[in-house]
Amino acid sequence: MFSYVEGKRKLLFCTDSEVDRNLYILVRQALDENVTFEFHILEEESEESFVNQWFHKQKMGAYLYISGKEDFVKRIKDVAMMAGFTEHDMQSLINGPVKKKLICCTCHGVNEVSDQTHVVCVHCGQELEVSDHYSRRLDAYLGYVTIK
Ligand SMILES: [Zn+2]
Repeated sequence: MFSYVEGKRKLLFCTDSEVDRNLYILVRQALDENVTFEFHILEEESEESFVNQWFHKQKMGAYLYISGKEDFVKRIKDVAMMAGFTEHDMQSLINGPVKKKLICCTCHGVNEVSDQTHVVCVHCGQELEVSDHYSRRLDAYLGYVTIK
């Protein structure tokens, strides 16, 4: 869930869907408190250059909320970071399944998993347990050999 951050000069809302209830709660609050905000629904990838310009023209004190599918959130977040936003200037919420990368401890191949706890490595066939051991460098979780 998003949390409403008080005392921001301006709020930016960004979503890939018109029916995003999570954001509407925040929009209402912004309206109640008379905080300036901008709201954009971005349904096309081609709108990326628009997003880029939008982020670049923001001044200090702007706070960003991103809501949408995982790929969308990642993409918008990257654009925001490039434009100078930090993790402290934004919140994001993923709708739908979250895919994560899992590195096989045997062959070091990359597997894609969602919420399974065990997978079979697509590269070497090794059965792996999905750990919560996350490597920031690899942007992936480590998959360990299941001990039976
Ligand atoms: Zn493997």
